[in-house]
Amino acid sequence: MQTLTILGATGSIGKNTLDVVKRHNDKYRVYALTANSDYETLLLQARDVNAQHVVLADVSVQNEALALAASMELDVQCHFGVDALVKVSNDNKVDTVMAAIVGAAGLIPTFAAVAAGKRVLLANKEALVMSGELFIAKANECGATILPIDSEHNAIFQCLPHSFKYGDLAASGISKVLLTGSGGPFLETDLALFDAITPAQACAHPNWDMGQKISIDSATMMNKGLEFIEARWLFGLDNDDIDIVLHPQSTIHSMVQYVDGSVIAQMGAPDMRTPIAHALAYPVRIKSGVNPLDFNQLRDFTFSTPCPERYPNLYLALRAARMGQSACTTLNAANEINVAAFLAGHISFTDIARCNAQVLDAHEISSLTTIEQVIQCDQNAREVAQSAILELS
Ligand code: NDP
Ligand code: MG
Repeated sequence: MQTLTILGATGSIGKNTLDVVKRHNDKYRVYALTANSDYETLLLQARDVNAQHVVLADVSVQNEALALAASMELDVQCHFGVDALVKVSNDNKVDTVMAAIVGAAGLIPTFAAVAAGKRVLLANKEALVMSGELFIAKANECGATILPIDSEHNAIFQCLPHSFKYGDLAASGISKVLLTGSGGPFLETDLALFDAITPAQACAHPNWDMGQKISIDSATMMNKGLEFIEARWLFGLDNDDIDIVLHPQSTIHSMVQYVDGSVIAQMGAPDMRTPIAHALAYPVRIKSGVNPLDFNQLRDFTFSTPCPERYPNLYLALRAARMGQSACTTLNAANEINVAAFLAGHISFTDIARCNAQVLDAHEISSLTTIEQVIQCDQNAREVAQSAILELS
């Protein structure tokens, strides 16, 4: 029996995780569920899976949440604030932490789980992008196991040999890691129309059903840029070890190419319950509820290279990856601010890349040797991004 904390339980990954967990209540027990402010969903989930604790990061909802928990006569302990997120992430009753908070807000509790040597199922790519070296070093020091949830990274993990040693591609006869991406909803859209793209259009991903932030990142392909950085840290890769391949059908979730010419791909329906079930049960396999691929229905199977004019955000992320950690932290923070401004209708779709570029151009590289320095760098970048938005308007 594994005991779980699910950080970000009310989100897209959180709900998919509960869906898989509920299919296997002989294997998984839920210790804690967390959200930011959506206490109604969180309390219903807690009742559904008999969670012992719930945490809401947003303390302003405390009174309403406690009143609702009392009226539901729930046998669950309610906690509020970031310290409580940390407590349910590093509690010694917990074996496994699903890290599925969106954005930089996930860093502190996810890092706490790593520092406590947990089995960490990592969906929150932003935490790794902003603190890569520290994150991996802490996992090694504290004996944490990190299992990738991001579908591409989970696919790469499945395509690597069991003997793979972190960072040593040559020893395993690997020539390239091929990171695939669909290209999002605007793969074929006339570039002249990009300025007028609305948040609703950008959130409507052709293959995946996801939270708003990652949906926008998928439309700009910043998501693939963040995933490039994520892959570097998860597997110890150099920039040149990874190629990005557009594959609009999202049937292949990524590949590993070997020196003998073999390419091993992981395929499946675009449904996050596959990587979630894989990581939850690793190294054994469990049912996820995902329909098997029907090869009679698969028609097109195409590949191409993403172009910089269509996806400037992807190329900004690749530039940040070459610049180093503080540039990655900075770009990630700026992107969170600019995506939120786009969703709020304050800037246009193309302004996201414009403002991100402005922040990265202004960035002076510094070394980040503590989590406090990472958080400071993130805060500084947010301020520069806010000024870039103000300048635009
Ligand atoms: P959602 O927006 O659907 O959910 C986000 C979750 O995080 C919610 O539970 C939300 O709570 C919580 N949250 C938001 N802000 C805070 C905060 N400040 N403090 C604490 N909790 C907070 O996101 P997704 O599930 O789509 O994505 C989660 C992570 O997984 C992201 O890092 C994303 O990149 C990654 N990922 C997602 C995939 C997907 O298919 N969705 C695929 C691959 C990776 P509340 O509901 O109260 O706002
Ligand atoms: Mg992904």
